[in-house]
Amino acid sequence: HVRVDGLNKWFGALHVLKDIDLTIRAGARIVVCGPSGSGKSTLIRCINGLEPFQKGTIQLDGIAMGRNTRDTAMACRLTGMVFQSFNLFPHLTVLANCTLALRRVLLKPAREAEEIAMQHLTAVRIPEKAQAYPAQLSGGQQQRVAIARALCLNPRIMLFDEPTSALDPEMIKEVLDVMIALAKTGMTMVCVTHEMGFAREIADEIVFMDDGRIIERASSETFFSAAAHPRARLFLDTIL
Ligand code: ATP
Ligand code: MG
Repeated sequence: HVRVDGLNKWFGALHVLKDIDLTIRAGARIVVCGPSGSGKSTLIRCINGLEPFQKGTIQLDGIAMGRNTRDTAMACRLTGMVFQSFNLFPHLTVLANCTLALRRVLLKPAREAEEIAMQHLTAVRIPEKAQAYPAQLSGGQQQRVAIARALCLNPRIMLFDEPTSALDPEMIKEVLDVMIALAKTGMTMVCVTHEMGFAREIADEIVFMDDGRIIERASSETFFSAAAHPRARLFLDTIL
């Protein structure tokens, strides 16, 4: 599980995360939402080890991030991250995108890496594209490959940063369906998304951020029917 305590982060003089406390128990499915610039991406990038922070602690299964590079690298390996912009390596096939870290980081032999990758490509329903290059795939297909690639390293927690917001409407569902299937396997997930139908279906908790703070944390039922904070209600009014 993940424990964030008193997390504060600045970009130069800009205070972007303010006293964030967040516990994510194993198997939890948390949706993070809030206005643009409220710090959602920065928060999950800190959890993933992509961003240094100045104050507070983040622990992943008891390993502290940010204290030294060895612990950060170890904690980083426990998380899988999926970005809005897919971030596949364009010069590598789908299969090679998926096997790269298995071979280079986990030092798996090629055949075993390919078997693991094919399992995950099958789970995201795209095994037939294993030899294709990213540019030959639709956005929805690329994003499913990105999810498979993250799953190959067997993460304890999956972090999603607006995984569907760069997609055409008809491709959003195929990606959300893969995420819903993943949620049903019991994977711990933190998803930054404004897909409120998805949030209703799978989130057991909604975290609402505004101006660098978590200002509301509620079950999805409570959040949608009776968000306590006026900013959260205003936000819901504008996106629903
Ligand atoms: P969005 O919904 O638009 O993705 P967000 O909630 O993910 O927004 P962040 O990307 O976390 O917001 O940004 C939080 C604040 O930090 C913003 O004011 C942003 O301009 C600033 N910021 C983000 N990345 C950097 C950076 N690399 N350098 C300086 N400032 C940054
Ligand atoms: Mg963002």
